[in-house]
Amino acid sequence: MTLFIGASLVALAVVLFILQPVVKGLHASLERDEFELTDTEARKRVALLALRDVEYDFLAEKLDEHDYRSLKAELTAEALAALEADEQAQSGAGADEDELEAEIAAIRAGLGAGSVCDACGFSNEVGSRFCASCGQAVAAEAAG
Ligand SMILES: [Zn+2]
Repeated sequence: MTLFIGASLVALAVVLFILQPVVKGLHASLERDEFELTDTEARKRVALLALRDVEYDFLAEKLDEHDYRSLKAELTAEALAALEADEQAQSGAGADEDELEAEIAAIRAGLGAGSVCDACGFSNEVGSRFCASCGQAVAAEAAG
């Protein structure tokens, strides 16, 4: 019985050893190589994460509307500036960048389309005619 348990532990250790790179790989892809980011990538990432936090804080009612709007405008400008800096820093973008660029494009489109509700500040999908949060008419084409 003891021998059996011992053999099982060895087998488990072997399995874990074999799986180690896989687990590490999963972890790495989730964390997105935090320590291998270039300065511009890190800046872009920080700006986007901050922007997301502002959205969450507002939805969780930790921010009032005024703070939310000013923070969002500030961080969006920073994110766009960071994106441009990053694009200049590396002309050939890897596949990893696609997600972030789509995120930026969505932010850009949202601002350009004026889909942020004037009444409540909710960020509606591009092309929305009415606010999904409060029902107020949203100016689809007007800038700002
Ligand atoms: Zn609204």
